[in-house]
Amino acid sequence: MPAPRLFVDAPLAPAAPIALDADQAGYLGRVLRLGAGDSVRAFNGADGEWRARLVEVGKRGARLEAEAQTRPQSLPPDLELWFAPVKRQATDWIVEKATELGVRTLRPVLTKRTIAETVRVDRLALIAREAAEQTERLDVPAIAPPVSLAQALDGGDAARGLVFADEAGDDPDAVWGGPTGRAAPIADAPLAPWAKLAVLIGPEGGFDPTERRLLRARPGVIPVSLGPRILRAETAVCAALTVVQAMWGDWRASG
Ligand code: SAH
Repeated sequence: MPAPRLFVDAPLAPAAPIALDADQAGYLGRVLRLGAGDSVRAFNGADGEWRARLVEVGKRGARLEAEAQTRPQSLPPDLELWFAPVKRQATDWIVEKATELGVRTLRPVLTKRTIAETVRVDRLALIAREAAEQTERLDVPAIAPPVSLAQALDGGDAARGLVFADEAGDDPDAVWGGPTGRAAPIADAPLAPWAKLAVLIGPEGGFDPTERRLLRARPGVIPVSLGPRILRAETAVCAALTVVQAMWGDWRASG
């Protein structure tokens, strides 16, 4: 069983002391039954991954001491997920899967048909942290505060291409985009020129025609189809991120 991985909020350097909170101490001590002298793998998003020794573990906290770096720091491609929050369990699942699929930032976007009123950013941040530990990332994706679609677009970076998963296609008033068919297949999307991308996935009710027109009128927006079936939002997140990572992201052997 490989040594457990922990995201720590402390600089990592030889003999650097690392204080763990009660939750992390409980995980190491009670769940994994580790004790003084055992090793763990610590990462903080900046200094790579380090082997750290457990100095003491108790109910209220634990102390580690960093020993040696085992992996240099690296970041996944500059890929964001802009998603309309959906039902709580599905949103939790979106955060966990998007973390495994390597997005750097998750941006909850409140669209016209978004049902979820509140987004528990603190809760989603904990899910992202645990998923980052499990998936062996060296960083934890940020969860941005929820904004409206207009705010996300206005606050966006012109250098970031926006892969817009458009379930209705060209004719916003016709089911599935009418005779003109849907948006181009995602596998044909011109992703290569972009150094930064975001994927936008709508809520259970999809995008409103005015939102679709707003999006399709903006430079840098790449409408795409995710095939001939309606996917649940959480399925669409996984499907779109998978194709983007395979075509554009870090699923090729990194040089
Ligand atoms: N309004 C749809 C459901 C939307 S699914 C309905 O007819 O029930 C939620 C989101 O997943 C969509 O807004 C879109 O971003 C994405 N999505 C689902 N299926 C898709 C597809 N076949 N092509 C493109 N995007 C899709």
